[in-house]
Amino acid sequence: MTSETVLHADADQGLRRRIRDFVAAHPPPDIRGLARDARTTQMQAWAATLYDNGFAGPAWPREFGGMELGFAEQVAYHDEFAKFHAPGHPGNGPFIAGPTLLRYGNDDQKRRYLPAMLRGDEVWAQGFSEPGAGSDLQSLSTRARRDGNYYIVSGTKLWSTFADVADMMFALVRTGGPETGAAGISYLLIDMHAQGVTARPLRDMSGHSHFCQVFLDDVRVPVANRVGEENKGWQLARATLGYERAARSLLHASAYRRRMSGLVGLLKRRGALDDPLARDALARCEIDVRIMALNAARIVSATEKTGTPGPASSITRLHQSLVEQSFYQTAVDLIGADALIATGTDAVQNARWLTGYLHSRGATIGAGTAEVQRNTIAEQILKLSR
Ligand SMILES: Cc1cc2nc3c(=O)[nH]c(=O)nc-3n(C[C@H](O)[C@H](O)[C@H](O)COP(=O)(O)OP(=O)(O)OC[C@H]3O[C@@H](n4cnc5c(N)ncnc54)[C@H](O)[C@@H]3O)c2cc1C
Repeated sequence: MTSETVLHADADQGLRRRIRDFVAAHPPPDIRGLARDARTTQMQAWAATLYDNGFAGPAWPREFGGMELGFAEQVAYHDEFAKFHAPGHPGNGPFIAGPTLLRYGNDDQKRRYLPAMLRGDEVWAQGFSEPGAGSDLQSLSTRARRDGNYYIVSGTKLWSTFADVADMMFALVRTGGPETGAAGISYLLIDMHAQGVTARPLRDMSGHSHFCQVFLDDVRVPVANRVGEENKGWQLARATLGYERAARSLLHASAYRRRMSGLVGLLKRRGALDDPLARDALARCEIDVRIMALNAARIVSATEKTGTPGPASSITRLHQSLVEQSFYQTAVDLIGADALIATGTDAVQNARWLTGYLHSRGATIGAGTAEVQRNTIAEQILKLSR
């Protein structure tokens, strides 16, 4: 089976038609070039439009506002919306925190947080990494001390995407002693508007500020905001990391299919495909994009069957991150020096290929580095010794 048949099988023409009618009645906002705050506002408004019209959360249960679609329909859903350049969801909620809460949250937490998360009323950030804990996450040191019905949380989180615009953060904190490793970690939901929380944006090499350093200074967090048992948060963290690695895989696959078509069209117009070496490089991209779609299909169907993406999510994430880099590298190479013009009327398509190229450098770091994904594949799938 090719990725074309997986992604374009038109398994659900009815759903595709409903999406086209919906988009005709509610055109998605164009958020390209908007400043960060305006962009987030537009993304939230679009998430609310989807939710209010029954088009949010393709894989989520209906009980919390989702569509509860089967696998083939999810493929059609992402494929169809990608054609209309619809904005993504703001924050790391529905793809990462949401599945974890659905699986491990109690009824009160699900009712309180899930619908607002899906509708975009509350934007979520992830607070896992710290200045002294990245790949070695079990060594994290943000401390949560129990005080009656509250935890008093102090420490620093790093590289927290969306934290400057987030309302809530799902975070790992140390509730056990300093030497307890994985056995002393709890999973907390922290209100980003609480006293003692400061999110400081960090500028990356593209000139954007997607992530932040978050300072937690004696922040009072209700014990009711702990997901799962005290000191048992590592199991949840592993599930969250799996969801993060599998997250958006179908969305990504559809987006790259669209980007591929855009790139081919652009290169043809520029006469760049007369060179057989250029055509060869582009064919490699096409193969990669098809494999990306097949990997996405595998991970979504595994999650549907078992409720968790499992270690195979590392294969999906590793491949996707490497393809992101080689795809944009090829695009910039084939467009030529013009691709490097960042601003002004000479910038090629508003410098989208340059921006993509710069952002793609972080792809092999976020959601676990490429080396860490390879470790997981070696140890948990191939069963090689450590
Ligand atoms: C775009 C982007 C978005 C991110 N968003 C978030 C977010 O929202 N929330 C959040 O909490 N974090 C986020 N992160 C942080 C990310 O999870 C960490 O950067 C990542 O886990 C690596 O940690 P580190 O930066 O501390 O590097 P380190 O862990 O210090 O790694 C340094 C180098 O050593 C290698 N290495 C480390 N351990 C091993 C090992 N056991 N075997 C082989 N090699 C090893 C690594 O591969 C890497 O090359 C984001 C990062 C990026 C780039």
